[in-house]
Amino acid sequence: MIEVERLTKHYGSFVALDDVTFSVPKGEILAFLGPNGAGKSTTMKILTGYISPNAGRATIGGLDVVEHSVQIRHRIGYLPETTPLYYDMQVDEFLRFVARLRGLSRAERGGRLGWVAEICHLEGFWKKPIGVLSRGQKQRVGFAQAILHDPDVLILDEPTAGLDPNQILDVRGLIRQFAESKTIILSTHILQEVEALCDHVIVIHEGRIVADDRRDALSGLHGGLEQAFHALTQGGT
Ligand code: ADP
Repeated sequence: MIEVERLTKHYGSFVALDDVTFSVPKGEILAFLGPNGAGKSTTMKILTGYISPNAGRATIGGLDVVEHSVQIRHRIGYLPETTPLYYDMQVDEFLRFVARLRGLSRAERGGRLGWVAEICHLEGFWKKPIGVLSRGQKQRVGFAQAILHDPDVLILDEPTAGLDPNQILDVRGLIRQFAESKTIILSTHILQEVEALCDHVIVIHEGRIVADDRRDALSGLHGGLEQAFHALTQGGT
């Protein structure tokens, strides 16, 4: 479903991504695990068409993310690290606005809005301005905008960052629910997140992939994913 081949991104002379290759089959949840600054967001921004790579290519469902960026945007839902919300709008107004932007017809809009309200549990604050919501509630609205057009692929940048433990469970529940029908890439620097959710993990450090395997295989390294992660990101094995 997602193929990434020798992707490289420079910011000026700084190499943020260096020759990154991986693939994600349909229906899988892949975690990008790595410390801050590893290159996780950069990879996600390239996949979603927000920035272009300097070298290499990425395809989603066979379409090149640079050449077919508009079609790709219809097929993916993206939750960036900082949720893109308009704080003065009410939740229902914001989602109606996003639905129009995504090109949903009037008939489709009603059904889709009802669906995201239910699935993301938005009913309790549907008419509230986004600015007054808790961080967990805002994240659920962010999730709702990402799935509103029923994309095949979800790209979630640190979806549980800054949430309290109950909110984390809530958002993980949402991700699991979608895993049944979608291909998902999420980034995290939290090992438990990988253990709780993912089939496949790529450990990324200073712009390079230092491990790429099934979660179970990596967990076997040195008796645990945590030790493996620290060993790999310190340059040892
Ligand atoms: P992560 O998501 O793993 O925390 P990022 O992909 O955001 O990492 O960043 C990778 C590296 O690229 C970091 O060192 C970051 O400072 C740098 N970087 C990211 N965006 C820019 C930018 N627009 N200009 C310059 N450097 C950037």
